[in-house]
Amino acid sequence: MALLQISEPGQSAAPHQHKLAVGIDLGTTNSLVATVRSGLSSILVDEDGHNLLPSVVRYMPDGGIEVGYSAQAAQSQDPTNTVVSAKRFMGRGLKDIDVSQQPYHFIETKSASGEMLQIETRAGIKSPVEISAEILKTLKARAEKSLGGELVGAVITVPAYFDDAQRQATKDAARLAGLNVLRLLNEPTAAAVAYGLDNASEGIYVIYDLGGGTFDISILKLAKGVFEVLATNGDSALGGDDFDRRIFCWALDQRLAEQSKCTPLNAQDTRLLLTKAREAKEWLTDHASAQITSVLSTGELLNVTLSTKQFNELTQTLVTKTLAPTKKALRDAGLTIEDIKGVVMVGGATRMPQIRLSVADFFKQTPLTNLDPDKVVALGAAIQANTLAGNKGDNELLLLDVIPLSLGLETMGGLVEKIIPRNSTLPITRAQEFTTFKDGQTAMSIHVLQGERELVTDCRSLARFELRGIPPMVAGSARIRVTFTVDADGLLSVSAREVASNVEANIVVKPSYGLSEEQILNMLQSGFGAAESDKQARALAEAKVDAESLLAAIEIALEKDSDLLNAQEIQAIRGKMDALRANIHAGASHAIHEATEALNLATEEFAARRMDASVSHALAGKNLDEVNF
Ligand code: ADP
Ligand code: MG
Repeated sequence: MALLQISEPGQSAAPHQHKLAVGIDLGTTNSLVATVRSGLSSILVDEDGHNLLPSVVRYMPDGGIEVGYSAQAAQSQDPTNTVVSAKRFMGRGLKDIDVSQQPYHFIETKSASGEMLQIETRAGIKSPVEISAEILKTLKARAEKSLGGELVGAVITVPAYFDDAQRQATKDAARLAGLNVLRLLNEPTAAAVAYGLDNASEGIYVIYDLGGGTFDISILKLAKGVFEVLATNGDSALGGDDFDRRIFCWALDQRLAEQSKCTPLNAQDTRLLLTKAREAKEWLTDHASAQITSVLSTGELLNVTLSTKQFNELTQTLVTKTLAPTKKALRDAGLTIEDIKGVVMVGGATRMPQIRLSVADFFKQTPLTNLDPDKVVALGAAIQANTLAGNKGDNELLLLDVIPLSLGLETMGGLVEKIIPRNSTLPITRAQEFTTFKDGQTAMSIHVLQGERELVTDCRSLARFELRGIPPMVAGSARIRVTFTVDADGLLSVSAREVASNVEANIVVKPSYGLSEEQILNMLQSGFGAAESDKQARALAEAKVDAESLLAAIEIALEKDSDLLNAQEIQAIRGKMDALRANIHAGASHAIHEATEALNLATEEFAARRMDASVSHALAGKNLDEVNF
């Protein structure tokens, strides 16, 4: 009789208490699902024992949908109905992607929330959200089958640089797939969790993630259960696929040497040879040479042998290419390699020995590779899901992430007031009070922005809404409390409330499409670089706002009480007003300040007379003891 297994105390909850929760790595190339069983995180495999599910969805002629290996195999025969790398299109508009590089029929639909990219297939128009939902459905079914029950929820991972739109799209895909999202988790954070770094002593870690078509480098600072993303960088067009292409080109070169005539390959042969190239690359990770044998559709036999040494030479430039973003990330975070406590390898392509050697050489330490690099993100997500589902003790630390870019709103003069600074730990709520600009103003337009710069035009607009029904008051006396809340998934909601009357308006920010990684990096870098010019721009805008509100106030006063002044005095004030207007127009903040001061001085006497006049008006016809001073 087989022995029954009993788990260690505290490692597993009683069966009736254990809630089924999974971690999902929704990858560009491959996706995985993992769960924690008996205290250990493990990948759930399909019926054939595969860990990975290729992130490929095919809409079949018979109306069915295939996901995974079978869809991947049909890619060359049926390219327009077989969607690969849908993750690249999540939360994006047409202008965010290079359409010429894609075989699909893209269309852009306008909805209430803006433009949205979609793909026309034989099964109709499909959004990246629907396509990703098919991958998630497949993983959900796999998990429920192997765990024998319904899932309470899932933690789904996203790249650290994913913005609001991309995160929201990922959540929508999960909802479509019938999954309850416990939390979206940054991929590098998940990898760090899989290695137990959240339980290790504090320090700064680098997560080096080379997947199929993307390279991401993240620098995380770990302190008391809080993961702070110090910097992210990468290359959205660099990954294992590029190594395949180098082998592909090399193999064709060999053939050309043998053949006198250059015959271009058709699409099917190209796909076939690329698949052979990938197999050779993966083989070379553990072997000294690989043979590539392929019969092309022309009947030609291609048979070449590639050695590890040749492969290293062919791909040397690709390996070095990952170091530039790595150096940039270190520089952005203000760190040197001596500050790095550990380097975590993530992504199937980091199995290649030349990558491991180059990373070890660069960081002067052996990177962490004892977990499978293509599983590590899903394994970490499962650990987090297990905690969030309540399968662990109450005192378990919850992970916290930070926001990558500052959030703020537009104030007078086209300036951005930051409400939540970048790298704030999530979830977070911050409120600030604002006021009206004009007398009797009853509405206020709230413009929500993201970015590090001082001027609205240099930041990204996320949303606009209006607060109406503010009781009319003198400019500057209304108190509008604006509250920004970013939840644990990194999603933002903004509300505005007039404090006296309690009128309120709010919005959940769902931008129509996202920023590219480069845009985020550019926004960050230009923010750092432009600090001085931004300061000047802010000074100028503030000077203009002050000057204009003074001019407006004096216009109103002149209209009402010009009888308190003689013609000469009016002329003098008008002269100063014109001078100030000319200076606003010229746009030098210092000169605007001086002209504002001069106008203030020139109107001091007028202001005093108006004050006296209004006091005597208030006193007129009243007994002194009726008047309350
Ligand atoms: P993604 O995060 O983009 O979904 P993965 O982490 O699954 O991607 O990485 C996929 C890449 O890893 C592919 O290019 C694949 O060929 C490569 N890869 C997988 N196994 C190996 C291996 N043994 N040696 C080299 N490359 C590998
Ligand atoms: Mg990945």
